[in-house]
Amino acid sequence: MTSLIYLDNNATTPLDPGVLDVMMPYFTTHFGNASSISHRAGRLASAAVETARTEVAALIGASEKEITFTSGATEAINMALKGIYHSYQRKGKHIITCQTEHRAVLDVCSHLQKLGAAVTFLPVDSQGRIQLSDLEAAIRPDTILIALMYANNETGVIHPVADIGRLAKERDVLFFCDATQAAGKIKVDVVRDEIDLLCLSAHKLYGPKGTGALYIKRKSRRIQTGTLLHGGGQENGLRGGTLNVPAIAAFGKAADICRQTLDTDHRQLRTLRDQLEQQLTSAIPEVYINGTESPRLPNTSNICFRYLNGEEIMVNMPSVALAAGSACASGKREPSHVLHAMGLPAEDIKASLRFSFGRFNSQSDVGEVVNILPEMISRLRAASPVWQLHKEGLL
Ligand SMILES: *Cc1c(COP(=O)(O)O)cnc(C)c1O
Repeated sequence: MTSLIYLDNNATTPLDPGVLDVMMPYFTTHFGNASSISHRAGRLASAAVETARTEVAALIGASEKEITFTSGATEAINMALKGIYHSYQRKGKHIITCQTEHRAVLDVCSHLQKLGAAVTFLPVDSQGRIQLSDLEAAIRPDTILIALMYANNETGVIHPVADIGRLAKERDVLFFCDATQAAGKIKVDVVRDEIDLLCLSAHKLYGPKGTGALYIKRKSRRIQTGTLLHGGGQENGLRGGTLNVPAIAAFGKAADICRQTLDTDHRQLRTLRDQLEQQLTSAIPEVYINGTESPRLPNTSNICFRYLNGEEIMVNMPSVALAAGSACASGKREPSHVLHAMGLPAEDIKASLRFSFGRFNSQSDVGEVVNILPEMISRLRAASPVWQLHKEGLL
């Protein structure tokens, strides 16, 4: 494990050491229940939660009253989508989302379809972009929600969020944005982008797993989301259950570090990513980068090594942690729905690998990959009948 080069930061990030320091006392000396404010132990815990709420709000330009802590982005997505659907039935049952959303959004949408929702899944072009005209044309009088992500977890492609927000506002439709991958990597501002609801996850920004947040705009008309978890009345009655104080305190610290290091992190990540892309594309024939013509996150590179199998590449490079073009959902491997929506043929989806950099990667990690990969790929291709056919011009 010590020598593992971790380039799978879009799946999860390691905890920042500064985050662990903030988290530890809430397991030991400051173990109080944040709801038990009749004594000092509880008040200490409650104060930690409120500090974290301010820090998380600051990362996205929100106010602390607009932040509800959840168990992660998936729960926040469930709360937002199911809540809006159930609360706005008088207006309608139509939801607009996109084919390249995270499974959490797509699965909630298919669940809501079974309950009677009408869902439009917008297509994307070969670069992972939606057309604003498609979005505009999809809005109907009974549309209650637009659910579009800030940046894609597989390709890093960034949606035109400010334009989407403006359009949603003009047409009086609520806008939910899954900013799980964008937050901490690029500037997310719920006011500038006119976002009504937004989800975050701590473990994608150097915080612990099992904690996240839902932002619900409070500045204009009150948005109704109801509650998924009844009991105890925590989080303003929106999410019952004893708060996970250590994780929430850690989430706050992680958000605070991200906000303060956003520019330097951005520069460092982009440098590593660009070096990797430049060196691999010049050293290896028949490779291309997915979504390269779109605005992208600085840390994500999704590369197709044509005529090969991404799984095989990973097996032959066990010292590097990557993600394949197929998502492992409950044990079965399915070709990536994101790359499929971008029109990649099945062979190219299988041949694609995601490299996602993080704060703790360095130049030597890029060097290591560039050392191993070109040589290994020519070896694998030399042994591949498909590659031979390609070289003879038969493919
Ligand atoms: C990881 C991720 C999620 C799910 O987050 P959890 O906190 O693990 O539930 C949702 N959306 C995107 C874009 C993600 O990358």
